[in-house]
Amino acid sequence: MALVSRARLTLGLSDVGAEIHQLLAQCTKPLGEWLPLPAVKEAGLNAVCLIDAEDYMPTLEAEELSEGFGGMTGLLEEQVFAAFQDSLSKHSAKDANDYYTAVRTFVVRNPVATRKQLLKFLAALPSAVWACIEQQFYEPLPGALVAGETATLCGHCNNVMTAQPGGLRCMTAACAAEHAATPGRTLPAADLLRLNRSLRKYWLEPGIDEIRLADRLAARGHTVRMYPNRDMVDLDLGEGSPVGIDLKAYSSPELLGERLRRRPGGLKNYKTQLLVIPDWMARRVPHYVERVSACLEGSSIRALTLSDTVEVLGHA
Ligand SMILES: [Zn+2]
Repeated sequence: MALVSRARLTLGLSDVGAEIHQLLAQCTKPLGEWLPLPAVKEAGLNAVCLIDAEDYMPTLEAEELSEGFGGMTGLLEEQVFAAFQDSLSKHSAKDANDYYTAVRTFVVRNPVATRKQLLKFLAALPSAVWACIEQQFYEPLPGALVAGETATLCGHCNNVMTAQPGGLRCMTAACAAEHAATPGRTLPAADLLRLNRSLRKYWLEPGIDEIRLADRLAARGHTVRMYPNRDMVDLDLGEGSPVGIDLKAYSSPELLGERLRRRPGGLKNYKTQLLVIPDWMARRVPHYVERVSACLEGSSIRALTLSDTVEVLGHA
């Protein structure tokens, strides 16, 4: 806080670092807007928001930047996902992998589900996994999102749409960034459940583009596995395939490049290591792929936009 105050005053700007709530409010805006320091720009952080303005949670970029500072943000995720991993651990590795993929894919395709639809999906799962999803992943739709007795779902991603001046807007950022608002089904709000905010952040938002890529590759005849071996990578092209793919939508290519160079994760198990940037992100941030590639020099990871990935992998 003191450093923010000093930096802003040095730049001839008002002091927003002295009061925590004022500072947190600034953190929902891109750093370049309220902390226009040369060091921020050089680190590629101008477009980075530290707090998600919709959910009031630290963004993935904020978590990356605070890595090594005794992460309290990591804990939040651990609590939500520990029970799920625990429920899987009682099964054989193959079954656990299959359940993991089935649950995560369902979650990404159904950010909002009717009770009936959820129960129908859960019926095929073992009871411990079933209980975990039903009790911890989904919650009743908040009243603030409901217009009267009904709610309208997005025609693309099935998330709830919220009213704003000019019409309805899909609440999935990765969906709204790619598509014009497309209202789909309107359903009784009391029947609907939606994902809790940790799942929306860690699974749904990145998952929208992961599914988009998977569907386009599958349409070209590829055997696509989502989240193989309980999320070793986001997707690969079948058992024993040389191609492993991770998709990331960080607003800073420099932050992303540095992170993958230090921690390539499951990609290192593959011969062809692809880092996929959603098309909307590559359009939004100038020279995204060139910038992330410059940070990855010397690594085996190749960065591509989603559309270029589909072209490069071609038909199976
Ligand atoms: Zn949507």
